[in-house]
Amino acid sequence: MAASPTTRSSSRPNSLLTAGVSTLYGVGPDAEKALEHLGIRTVEDLLWHLPLRYEDFSKIRPLRSLVADQKQTAIAKLGRITQRRTARGQVLTEAELLEEDGRPSMVRASWFGRSFVKQSFPEGQVVRLSGDVRWLGRGLVFSQPKIEPADREAVHTGRIVPVYRLTEGLKDGHLRRWLHTAVEGARGRHGKAVAAPLVPHVPDPLPEGVLARQGLPTIVEALTQVHFPDDPMALFRARRRLAFDELLTLQLATAQRRARWAAEAQAIPLAVDDASLEAWVGELPFSLTGAQRRSLGQIRADLAKSVPMSRLLEGDVGAGKTVIAALAMRIAEASAAQSAFMAPTELLAEQHLATLQALFSGGGPRIAKLTSSVTGAERARILDELATGAAGAVVGTHALLEEGVRFRRLALAVIDEQHRFGVAQRSALREKGVYPHVLLTTATPIPQTLWQTLHRDLDVSILDEMPAGRQEITTEVRTPDALPRIWPWARTRVERGEQAFVVCPRIDPADDPGGAPAGALFDAKESGFDPSAVAMHDELRKGPLQGVRLGLVHGRMPQKERDAVMTRLRDREIDVLVATTVIEVGIDIPNATVVVVLGAERFGLAQLHQLRGRVGRGTMRSYCVLVSPKRDSDRLAAMTERIEDGGRERPLNGFELAKRDLAIRGPGQFLGQEQSGFADQLRVVDLMDIDPRLLDDASAEADRIVAADPELERAEHRGLRAAVDELWRRYGYA
Ligand code: ADP
Ligand code: MG
Repeated sequence: MAASPTTRSSSRPNSLLTAGVSTLYGVGPDAEKALEHLGIRTVEDLLWHLPLRYEDFSKIRPLRSLVADQKQTAIAKLGRITQRRTARGQVLTEAELLEEDGRPSMVRASWFGRSFVKQSFPEGQVVRLSGDVRWLGRGLVFSQPKIEPADREAVHTGRIVPVYRLTEGLKDGHLRRWLHTAVEGARGRHGKAVAAPLVPHVPDPLPEGVLARQGLPTIVEALTQVHFPDDPMALFRARRRLAFDELLTLQLATAQRRARWAAEAQAIPLAVDDASLEAWVGELPFSLTGAQRRSLGQIRADLAKSVPMSRLLEGDVGAGKTVIAALAMRIAEASAAQSAFMAPTELLAEQHLATLQALFSGGGPRIAKLTSSVTGAERARILDELATGAAGAVVGTHALLEEGVRFRRLALAVIDEQHRFGVAQRSALREKGVYPHVLLTTATPIPQTLWQTLHRDLDVSILDEMPAGRQEITTEVRTPDALPRIWPWARTRVERGEQAFVVCPRIDPADDPGGAPAGALFDAKESGFDPSAVAMHDELRKGPLQGVRLGLVHGRMPQKERDAVMTRLRDREIDVLVATTVIEVGIDIPNATVVVVLGAERFGLAQLHQLRGRVGRGTMRSYCVLVSPKRDSDRLAAMTERIEDGGRERPLNGFELAKRDLAIRGPGQFLGQEQSGFADQLRVVDLMDIDPRLLDDASAEADRIVAADPELERAEHRGLRAAVDELWRRYGYA
């Protein structure tokens, strides 16, 4: 269990806070061990163990006002308390409850297994009880209520009560009591203070100016109220303050990275006149969409500066990102500069090479190809062309980043479909001593607030409009018992010369459901249909698709073999490719018209959308068949849903599908390992539900701070600097 990225580490360690939890009044050796399981070692760790949720027991009622089937708090005088063993051997404690003034009532309280109640609370004591109230027999019963003396301070009852994450051997009442001690101090039997509150020792990482401008409570107030809120408003303010700190830390980290990049890096300004650009656009076999024009304008403006561009071009599958990247490459060429286009695999690099060559047939840079399969004399020749500038552009894989690759005048790097790595690659390019403008592309539909939070150092252009006349892919959801009809149908399509994909959720039968992280969430056992690629390939070959040229590709094959299979598919030497989700990204086989996804309920919607996008890339009518035992799944229904848009019906697009998915599955699927680990560390901010105004405020403060004190060297920024450094240390690619 790791620390919060914010506020946690101060550069002025306070010995009361860094002391072990056992220094806290009431925490013994057993408790120390149990807390250790939660990663809580110091008092400070304990203070940052924030409530998971709250129960509002603040409204205190007399017994006669209680109602059934609600959680409530009441004040009562304890009547007769009895204890007996139930048939199952549990201790059952029952108490008659009297009104505070001693009048009888119809309410009782009962506890299973909590024999301490009879020992700790004498008859006649006035107590507060909080918990579930039910009808039982002739009257109401408080079942398993929390109880504390009415004249003691409210910790467990009669207030908004915090509920904490627990671990075995740790009782919620104990943990709450210790936190109360740390936050508010402790009083002994006669109200005498026996421990002073420790929260006031927590240094505030925010400078006073920020607190004042943003109208935020101090850290001491926020921590106090987040654990033991006075009222809902105070709790809201406290959580907002802590969320602000988390967002500010993230924003500072990226603002700082952007500022460093902008200050250090000198890019080659790339300009083009309107007439040339219009001429190039006019040469295209189609007219650009409005979204493409807008993005091109943003990119063009960035390229004209000597501050290197850092831009993400985000657009659904088929939205036309490549042509925009190609136009940017032409702008580079027009300024006598070079550009590099980096793809995730060799095959995709080849595909892009062909696309770019076609787009540049009427003019544009001469393009070299550099991947790890280019070796020997050929490699030497290409390196030479790049070093001398004979090649104006290069398409390749990670091989482009290798040492020994030198450019004469590299001004633009396009990094396709690898936004997860793109930022690191930008740094790798920097280390080579060149500062190109960087354009990242992605079809991953990440909501904008999420981008702004995690990647503020990237500007975003969004292609939210599809080129006109795109054919719709016929999509159907079928149960596995339809397969005996699906295979012969696929065979007839193949006999007409078309090609098909069969996508499986895992590689071989022994595997855990692979490919999709969905396996765990959507319950492998229940579905009972979980075909593996290896077994399916075998079965189809011997049975329903006998005689059809089948191929198999999955993530455990070496990249070289995978590329070889994909090349055979492209060259039409394979009719039906059985695959895992490795085919998900960008591969373009215009002749493929059928994709059958088996165990479809195991995939995320955005992923299914990507898989579906592997067909319908040519002019032929295309089909996507989602096979799942859960035919009535709401999630899968979204794939066939149609919505009304400007008087016309259309299927949900990638962004809309992603939104549906996010609501169900959370952010993990969209973020790389590193970033979702990052998300796990946020204690208060919910990445799926970021308050855009708070985010804007945090960004504005981050900009203000970085502008005035770029390296956070001032004393008042010490706490923030510690938080940012900690963030980089844990997740950083600085
Ligand atoms: P992606 O955004 O998925 O990378 P591509 O750039 O591969 O999309 O474009 C998909 C196809 O659409 C390509 O064949 C491309 O030539 C074509 N295309 C791009 N822009 C337009 C447009 N404005 N009108 C029509 N077709 C377009
Ligand atoms: Mg693409």
